[in-house]
Amino acid sequence: MKPAAFEYAAPSSIAEALALLRTQDGDAKILAGGQSLMPLLAMRLARPSLLVDLGRIAGLDSIREESGVIAIGAMTTKSAIEHSDLVRTRQPLFHAATRLIAHPQIRNRGTVGGSMAQADPAAEYPAAALALDAKMRVVGDAGERIIDAADFFVSTLTTALEPGEILIEVRLPMLAPGTGWSILEVSRRHGDFAMAGAAAMVALDAGRVRSARIVLFGVGPVPLRARAAEDAVAGKPPAAATWASAAAHARDAVEEPLSDSHASAAYRRHLAGVLVERALAEAVTRAGGTA
Ligand code: FAD
Repeated sequence: MKPAAFEYAAPSSIAEALALLRTQDGDAKILAGGQSLMPLLAMRLARPSLLVDLGRIAGLDSIREESGVIAIGAMTTKSAIEHSDLVRTRQPLFHAATRLIAHPQIRNRGTVGGSMAQADPAAEYPAAALALDAKMRVVGDAGERIIDAADFFVSTLTTALEPGEILIEVRLPMLAPGTGWSILEVSRRHGDFAMAGAAAMVALDAGRVRSARIVLFGVGPVPLRARAAEDAVAGKPPAAATWASAAAHARDAVEEPLSDSHASAAYRRHLAGVLVERALAEAVTRAGGTA
């Protein structure tokens, strides 16, 4: 199929983009890399009256270090992130998440802002953002605001962005010393969306787990913090039994996983446990511990 007719505009500033979005009473759509939006238009699952292409706005595609965080402009492509030494060395979990996304062709076009705004339940960036406690910098008619990743992903393909708001930057903390990370997933073929995935950040202190952040993806409408699993490892020595206990809690945390032609709900729940166990062990090893 071909998309329904729409107008197209390529503003050169954020102010111009906001003004264009205002003209359509919520019926305009932002165009970033088009990797999710264009198929939706072609299938007529979206019929915006106007596409506002952010591609000509200068400064939205930078990766920079700023006051201890990595600030990534919303229009930065996944390829640029994949090839960024700053991201690879200072926030390796986000770098590893990038390499799990699709294929180079898609990473060449798809943007970090597009992935966050699309909020696909199986997408790697939203899960990584939650695991890292990333902040979303957003502008709209009411000015600028910062949304925590924990509040940004509301439901399947739905975020806290209000109509007419633009995500302009994703802010990531740097990896702290003594902290290890992991992001793992299972997909049918390399580059496919994950059937299930897990991200883990683990901080060690005197040979014990001081704290952990564990996030599951592909198992519910939004990335899920497995808090009971986090509590199960806090204060414990790194050991296979500790990871197994966390895995049991992670399985319990998965309430209504999707059941589809790729994987049954039971299989997704099983994967959540296996991946949490492996991710914790890998994160601890990277933090300098042994399990
Ligand atoms: P677009 O498609 O242009 O936009 C997506 C949505 O976000 C639209 O609703 C748009 O209006 C909105 N939007 C975009 N930018 C902004 C902004 N700055 N502010 C507010 N709203 C905005 N993704 C994965 O995570 N993992 C995968 O394994 C994966 N596999 C894929 C395989 C294939 C074959 C394809 C085609 C895509 C795959 N994707 C995957 C999706 C890909 O990562 C897309 O790049 C991403 O979902 C959307 O980014 P985009 O820049 O292309 O955004």
